[in-house]
Amino acid sequence: MNYRVNPKNNDRLSLLGLGCMRFTKKGTVIDQENAERVMLSAIEQGINYFDCAYIYPGIEVSVGKFLAKGYRDKVHIATKLPHYFVKRPGDLDRYFNEQLRRLQTDRIDYYLMHMLGDMGSWERIRQYGIEEWAEAKKASGQIRNFGFSFHGSSESFKKLVDAYDWDFCMIQYNYIDETSQAGVSGLRYASEKGLPVIIMEPLRGGRLANIPSEAKALFDRFDTSRSRTYAQWALRWLFCQKEVTVVLSGMNTPGQVLENSSAASEDYQSGLSDEEKELYSKVRDIIRGKVKVPCTGCGYCMPCPRGVDIPVCFNCLNTRYSEGWYMGMKEYFMCTTLGVDSTAASKCIKCGKCEQHCPQEIEIRNMLELVTRKLETPAYKVAKRVSKIIGYYKHQ
Ligand code: SF4
Ligand code: SF4
Repeated sequence: MNYRVNPKNNDRLSLLGLGCMRFTKKGTVIDQENAERVMLSAIEQGINYFDCAYIYPGIEVSVGKFLAKGYRDKVHIATKLPHYFVKRPGDLDRYFNEQLRRLQTDRIDYYLMHMLGDMGSWERIRQYGIEEWAEAKKASGQIRNFGFSFHGSSESFKKLVDAYDWDFCMIQYNYIDETSQAGVSGLRYASEKGLPVIIMEPLRGGRLANIPSEAKALFDRFDTSRSRTYAQWALRWLFCQKEVTVVLSGMNTPGQVLENSSAASEDYQSGLSDEEKELYSKVRDIIRGKVKVPCTGCGYCMPCPRGVDIPVCFNCLNTRYSEGWYMGMKEYFMCTTLGVDSTAASKCIKCGKCEQHCPQEIEIRNMLELVTRKLETPAYKVAKRVSKIIGYYKHQ
């Protein structure tokens, strides 16, 4: 296993982390026996970063039961505050103490604001005293590192990075998302500021383990011995980037732990060769060949006076066409509704300001209409209403 050093406190973090949200279930409850096999296998392979969240049903309890069997000091526990549920200052302690109980521990090593979407959501939680609260928790040793996880645009991400003296952050990143969400520019920005960057969705919800056959053929021709799986190719792209600290993978069998750990144990000192960079670019083009909008995510059309996140809207529309309705909708929901202000396509008033700046000459207004039709479905609207009720957000 390779390890990367957290520049803030010298923690040695395994390059591969265990994302615990995908543990298998028996009926409606976590299959604890299998979850423990996976966690044990992870520790045996040298993985020392376990990622959980308050809202993943049963996960903190499952991890807590396992760690109580003598493994607590072998891993760094990461878990996340559901800040969107917080309605008063006392809620901060209430959720945190419940998480300590569930995890059967007296401290959280890496504690995140879950899915901060924009500055508005940070300002909202600040009014409940989150900064002073986090400082006090760190001083008492109950929180060792305080950070945030993020879905949204690169610009929002950079503003959030600058908004507080964070200890670390977590972004969605993989070879398809090189220029979407926080993207490579966000990764480098955070890293230059000295933040360890934790990566989620390295396989884009498993999609990069099962890519189109033309893309598979490119990898197979490049590596005729087929010594790597397509998932390992996706991980390799991340492991080769020195700004990446930990890559989380939602493994749910010991076999997956072994496969991914073997990829995380290769030598990545020299990074990707020029031939490999070209290979990834061709594979990306094939996967993106199914796209609906040729948006490169450059952001020249931004900001929109109505707050529409144009590149994010187009990225989600492309996801809908290349990876299916569910993936597109899920991404669109996460990226456009979790901030205080919605960034959805339906807010567009067709002023046309953005189109003058688009180097791809995309008919942005028309395409946003398509986004609204295809992605702002009844299911999206229900989910948005629910998030508004539980999160007290004021979407427009
Ligand atoms: S046309 Fe729509 S998306 Fe473009 S700037 Fe105007 S309101 Fe924003
Ligand atoms: S300017 Fe065009 S290509 Fe660039 S992000 Fe906006 S819509 Fe996409």
